[in-house]
Amino acid sequence: MDLAFECALFIVGLAFGSFLNVCIRRIPRDESVVSPGSHCPACGSQLRWRDNIPLLSWLLLRRHCRDCGDRISSRYPAVELLTPVLFVASYGFFGPTWLTAKFCIFCFLVVGLIFMDAETGLLPREFTYPGIVLGLALSAIAPADTTGTQFLLRAFGAELSLHALAVLDSAAGALVGAGFFYVAWALYYLLRKRHGMGFGDIALMAMAGVFLGLKLTLLVIFAAPLAGSVYALLLLVRGTHKAPPIDEGADLQAPPSARETFLTRELPFGVFLGACSLATIFFGESIWRWYLNFF
Ligand SMILES: [Zn+2]
Repeated sequence: MDLAFECALFIVGLAFGSFLNVCIRRIPRDESVVSPGSHCPACGSQLRWRDNIPLLSWLLLRRHCRDCGDRISSRYPAVELLTPVLFVASYGFFGPTWLTAKFCIFCFLVVGLIFMDAETGLLPREFTYPGIVLGLALSAIAPADTTGTQFLLRAFGAELSLHALAVLDSAAGALVGAGFFYVAWALYYLLRKRHGMGFGDIALMAMAGVFLGLKLTLLVIFAAPLAGSVYALLLLVRGTHKAPPIDEGADLQAPPSARETFLTRELPFGVFLGACSLATIFFGESIWRWYLNFF
């Protein structure tokens, strides 16, 4: 029964991953995600149904468009595989609970944002704003670990109902997460007179905060800048980081590959925020336990 459900969830995840590819391609370009139907980004020819099956079509077409022979970006199968894997991992971790549904939604949004940021440097509000509202609403039904807020409340001697505590913890995650990066952004701007990150990063952090709750958000605040710095150092060592930033919105018609963009533009910080948020869902509790064992 469980295996059957996991297989079904995987197939649902494949479909969501496939739709996510459409969103990643079109939302940063302000195009409709509904019409026209799926087409090749290079030649514009409409995809036949058999060329539109997640993963399988990419393998059967040997990574090339049937009409123009242009290479299909490996982002397509990557997103199509990553989405169902995260769905099934959420189910494996949280079991048949509302938490599974909540974190499937979160994974869907974050995977989309990671790839949009890597390809275009944009974190569209079409994903972050509804995410913040959804995460806050879902926190009442599927509370994250609220011990962070409980700990703070005890200091003030306050008592709250379970639901109120869950919503407060979710809001606290957003405020602390977004607040931290807002202050960092402001300080950087004061010192260097230029923007170190975009407003999209702050919105993404608020979204991660409402889904993860206060305790796990603290880990993301710590881990994401660390991951970004390690990556920047690696680029410096390898000498592949070419500094000049590309101006926003330019050349959206013929985008370079995600890899090229990722290597040549300023670090897309949303990628690290997103990746650390995803890792925190599954490893956050263990990291906290490991950390608290020192004391
Ligand atoms: Zn084509």
